Amino acid sequence: MRAVRDDELSPERLPTDENDLSLRPKRLSEFIGQEQLKSNLSVFLRAARQRNEPIDHVLLYGPPGLGKTTLAHIVAAEMEADIHVTSGPAVERPGDLVGILTNLEPGAVLFIDEIHRLSRPVEEILYPAMEDCKVDILIGKGPAARSIRLDVPRFTVVGATTRQGLLTGPLRDRFGIIAHFQFYSAEALYQIIVRSAGILGFDIEKSGASEISRRSRGTPRIANRLLRRVRDFAQVEGKGSIDREITDTACRALEVDDLGLDRIDRTLLRVMIERYRGGPVGLDTLAASTGEDATTIEDVYEPFLLQIGMLQRTPRGRSATDSAYKHLGFAPPKRLGENTLDFDSES
Ligand code: ADP
Repeated sequence: MRAVRDDELSPERLPTDENDLSLRPKRLSEFIGQEQLKSNLSVFLRAARQRNEPIDHVLLYGPPGLGKTTLAHIVAAEMEADIHVTSGPAVERPGDLVGILTNLEPGAVLFIDEIHRLSRPVEEILYPAMEDCKVDILIGKGPAARSIRLDVPRFTVVGATTRQGLLTGPLRDRFGIIAHFQFYSAEALYQIIVRSAGILGFDIEKSGASEISRRSRGTPRIANRLLRRVRDFAQVEGKGSIDREITDTACRALEVDDLGLDRIDRTLLRVMIERYRGGPVGLDTLAASTGEDATTIEDVYEPFLLQIGMLQRTPRGRSATDSAYKHLGFAPPKRLGENTLDFDSES
């Protein structure tokens, strides 16, 4: 059997995800979970359609794999608008953005993934375009240079970011709609898995779908990946359908544990416990000790560990909680009283 890559079950996007396009819900009614976000958005979409105007600029915020890109496409589909897809790092120079903006159809959606990575000069072009449908361009060089204003059609920016805190204030202020994604409940993931299995033509039993949903870290992208991998095991072991037993077998082989934590999650917690007495430990120290990238730890691993109460963020760094100790089979440390100063903990 082919080797499973280390990052295969991480929530980050991989080139192989292009195969998953068929799994992407196309309309809001097919989009499972995120009920509050969905019901608000459906009001804003309906109101904009009634007024015959593009919907206000939308900022989608949340960890990778929760459906930001999917929802951006849905916004365009519901508005019956064209969509142009780009990302913060892809728009290198202001001129690149001017080119995109001046070619947009009226009412189009401009989806900017990782919008927090736009450079300042590019952001400066975006502000007047978002606000007044104008772009300022500089013609010529030196003393002869002059700035001219061009009109661009009314359009909608849908920005996606894993970290709202990294967005500049002026950019954030230009979004009328800010939508926060939450991790999905096991029930919502269950429905997503059953839907995906249906589209891919996999036979799945309730016990299999609920086991996969429990182990998918609240993330549809992981649920879909895990589903495919478990299906591989079911096929090779000659099982007709995906049930709980084959899911257990596959997860053991993939080193995905009962809570859906993978090897990297456990390494992070174990390093905190074994080398730093449970923390607090600074992000950069943690990154250096585990060989993981600090941004990846912060954007990809930490949000779920915080959500399930394995990790705490304190002003002095990250700490492993008693649940983390127990989950990894360590005895939780005896904590000092609240009022006791712990002079040693930074060492
Ligand atoms: P993000 O942009 O937040 O990283 P994506 O929109 O690429 O996430 O979603 C990852 C995958 O998860 C998609 O390919 C899609 O198949 C699936 N997915 C995401 N959200 C949902 C949902 N609400 N219902 C069903 N499938 C979803």
